[in-house]
Amino acid sequence: MKSVRYRRSHIRASILDYLRRATSHPSAEEVHEAVKRTHPKVSFGTVYRNLNILVDQGEAKRLESSRERDRFDARRPFHAHFRCDSCGRLYDLPLDTEKIVDELAGMTGHKVSDHQIDFSGICSSCAGEG
Ligand SMILES: [Zn+2]
Ligand SMILES: [Zn+2]
Repeated sequence: MKSVRYRRSHIRASILDYLRRATSHPSAEEVHEAVKRTHPKVSFGTVYRNLNILVDQGEAKRLESSRERDRFDARRPFHAHFRCDSCGRLYDLPLDTEKIVDELAGMTGHKVSDHQIDFSGICSSCAGEG
């Protein structure tokens, strides 16, 4: 259990609100641009720090990539992703991740507190070109 207490923050609430509505899996830079509309003076560092807090708190997921900037996602329920190696788009997958977690728990006895399921390859629209 994490015992760190965080101060309530209007900035953090705005970030979470934006992330819960965004379907584009924004990068930290894009989140900063969006939050600046309502908090014009907010710095990138503040946004980045608050994004990390949201990830620590389990409110948001960081979608890491070795090739491009990390993206963030706070849409519920948490879901699996497919990343296209060609166009870089991130797709939400209609996989029942809760069921996978339940099956895993049944098979192994492990208690899952967090999970992230990611696939990559060539998306259907890129594969269909040419
Ligand atoms: Zn693609
Ligand atoms: Zn997503």
